[in-house]
Amino acid sequence: MTTHFDVIIIGGGLAGCSAGMLLGRKGLKVLIIEKNGLPAHKVCGEFLSPGIWPQLDSLGLREKILAQKGSSIEEAVFYFPRSKELSFQLPRFQGLTGYGLSRKKLDWIFFNQARENGCRALDNCEAQKISQNRSGFTVEAFDRKQNSSHVYYASQVFNAAGKLNQWKETPQKSENKTKIGFKAHFKNLKRSNKIRLYFFKGGYLGTAPIEDGLTNLCGLVDSNTLKQANGSFDLLLNETGRENAALKDFLREASPAMPWMSCPVHEGFQSSKRTAPLSLGDAACFLEPFMGQGMTYAVASGFLLSHLFSSKAADFQALKQLYQSKSLFGASMENFLFWISRHSTLISLIQPARLLLQPIINRTCAAPKSPPGPQL
Ligand SMILES: Cc1cc2nc3c(=O)[nH]c(=O)nc-3n(C[C@H](O)[C@H](O)[C@H](O)COP(=O)(O)OP(=O)(O)OC[C@H]3O[C@@H](n4cnc5c(N)ncnc54)[C@H](O)[C@@H]3O)c2cc1C
Repeated sequence: MTTHFDVIIIGGGLAGCSAGMLLGRKGLKVLIIEKNGLPAHKVCGEFLSPGIWPQLDSLGLREKILAQKGSSIEEAVFYFPRSKELSFQLPRFQGLTGYGLSRKKLDWIFFNQARENGCRALDNCEAQKISQNRSGFTVEAFDRKQNSSHVYYASQVFNAAGKLNQWKETPQKSENKTKIGFKAHFKNLKRSNKIRLYFFKGGYLGTAPIEDGLTNLCGLVDSNTLKQANGSFDLLLNETGRENAALKDFLREASPAMPWMSCPVHEGFQSSKRTAPLSLGDAACFLEPFMGQGMTYAVASGFLLSHLFSSKAADFQALKQLYQSKSLFGASMENFLFWISRHSTLISLIQPARLLLQPIINRTCAAPKSPPGPQL
């Protein structure tokens, strides 16, 4: 079995697979190592922003994704506590709308496409240690299917292992400031081509129609608010429904199609340990989920890194340039909305804030601005 590769990519999510596909197409020997058994659910709002389609076209994935019969998403509706709803038409990008599709299906399509493009892609395989010497990198990984450890070698390693990867520095934020992302699929919910965002004290919940008549419910809540609900997402939504009547109404007939899943979230740039390999996707920078563009930027970072690798200019600065304004903008918006939801007297400002919100919505639907070099 081959153990020597040109590139090893740790993480078989959208960032890792996009980079793998592009490098594989160039004839490089690429190994992708994915910890989870696939296909698998992932905490995500499952909203693909219209700006992602040109990249999906370049990867040859548009038809495969549309064949999954996800949902077109053309409108966003915001519900604040004790306030009227605010709805926004989502701008199309090159005539295309947003799209709701489960990560279980989406990531599986990416993983298989990477294989079709010549990568060796292993799931159920966890990278445990990376070391570097003069001739390149060594990656030690544990393969759960074979119940054995393996050592792989490459001249370059990329870290696409997501926001919780083990090669980043432990965040300085106190536990109380940590936010928790949560999600589950539900049946029997009012279906439409809208994403709905319900704000409440300490967080928000987004709903997006996906495939098979299902609706994805995904939210972000600060850890103190979740503690007050005894750590139960059902209880949290119950309490929230008291504050936000529109949410209570929306959830009346809801029945879960899977158990809740959750993960801690720290936004912004990830500072990597000094010995860490070059990162991409969430491993480089985690964008505020409210912006609905994490997946678009994960794929864009795959394009960027594969381009930089081929031109032998891979460095962190170029990635920073890709993410910088998006990251600052997303974090400030999220802080603003969290803050306003906590101060009921300010909610009346929301209607006049419509003019402020429309350009933000427009930005979440655009394609990433490509930094100098790669064509996205
Ligand atoms: C609550 C929430 C809601 C969101 N909603 C949206 C949305 O609606 N729209 C949107 O565009 N974005 C959204 N995002 C962001 C989006 O999910 C991410 O930006 C995107 O998944 C990043 O892709 P990635 O490939 O960088 O990382 P990931 O998708 O996290 O992939 C990383 C992979 O690495 C694997 N891995 C980790 N460690 C190892 C290891 N040691 N060895 C091998 N494999 C490993 C993991 O199993 C994982 O599959 C949301 C995020 C959250 C938290």
